[in-house]
Amino acid sequence: MTGQHSFVDLAEIEQARAAIAGTVRLTPVNLSPQLSDLVGQPVHLKLEHTQITGSFKLRGATNAVASLSDDEKRRGVIAVSTGNHGRGLAFAAKASGVKCIICMSKLVPQAKIDGIRAQGAEVRIIGRSQDEAQEEVARLVADDGMTMIPPFDHRAVIAGQGTLGLELLDQIPDVATVLVPLSGGGLISGVAAALKARRPDIRIIGISMERGAAMHECLKAGRPVHVEELATLADSLGGGIGLDNTLTFAMTSKLVDEVVLVSETEIAAAIRHIYWQERQIVEGSGAVGVAALLAGRIKSAGPVVSILSGGNIDMNQHFRIISGEDVDVTREAA
Ligand SMILES: *Cc1c(COP(=O)(O)O)cnc(C)c1O
Repeated sequence: MTGQHSFVDLAEIEQARAAIAGTVRLTPVNLSPQLSDLVGQPVHLKLEHTQITGSFKLRGATNAVASLSDDEKRRGVIAVSTGNHGRGLAFAAKASGVKCIICMSKLVPQAKIDGIRAQGAEVRIIGRSQDEAQEEVARLVADDGMTMIPPFDHRAVIAGQGTLGLELLDQIPDVATVLVPLSGGGLISGVAAALKARRPDIRIIGISMERGAAMHECLKAGRPVHVEELATLADSLGGGIGLDNTLTFAMTSKLVDEVVLVSETEIAAAIRHIYWQERQIVEGSGAVGVAALLAGRIKSAGPVVSILSGGNIDMNQHFRIISGEDVDVTREAA
């Protein structure tokens, strides 16, 4: 069922901003002269890949940990995540002295396991699939009373991600269009709720990859549906929105003006542009807004902000992409 939960509102996002202020970094915005020329409006890049742990996921995770009762904090938090949510939650938990376990399957590459351990969390390797890892989470929730923190469909997580919206509005008060990388919709729901409460005229555009754009398919279907996950350079945007989605599907349907899809070639071109022209290192998921701009798919009547949402890319892969090699993860995965 969707629709029975009220939307996360501005008050919750302002509260989140105060709650996470000591842990989370205020990230800068840079004006891009080349992209501004291309669009005919000022284009600013929100450098959220410079956030601690390398992505905005730290905002939601920190707010979710801060929202726990003392008793819940004592028993600890848990998640299944091989990526940025796991890193963010591990750091957030450690920062408030809360125990954290991240469960993953045996198939997860060692580099990702090390990345999460480096943030101070316990990593449990269970079974051969995400589903088996999920079963261990359910056991720890039932037996040890740990609290599961999901990556996007959760009030405190959405409110935490929304702080990015408040922050960018302070930085670029006349922003007209905001480009937001879109997967499960926690980031875009929070950012759209914050911005539309303050300035309903701001256009919010979600950007996903063509390969496995789960939220886009669900919006077309009018309800959460199963969407096959495919290999993509935007690996942090993979995965479904959950058939029992309670908040992000409804909030995205209501608050987001448009969804634009980008191809693998366009994502690679954006990673290259962001490196050589903007002098920043971002992962594929963080580059999709710039990919849409470079492809000429974004029109705006005023200033644009594109959120560079994360920077956790394999540096060998990054090197090959910026060197102009044709890195096709869809072929390599086959
Ligand atoms: C998680 C993630 C996203 C998508 O966020 P959702 O809240 O799932 O829509 C975008 N970019 C990066 C780098 C991420 O880690």
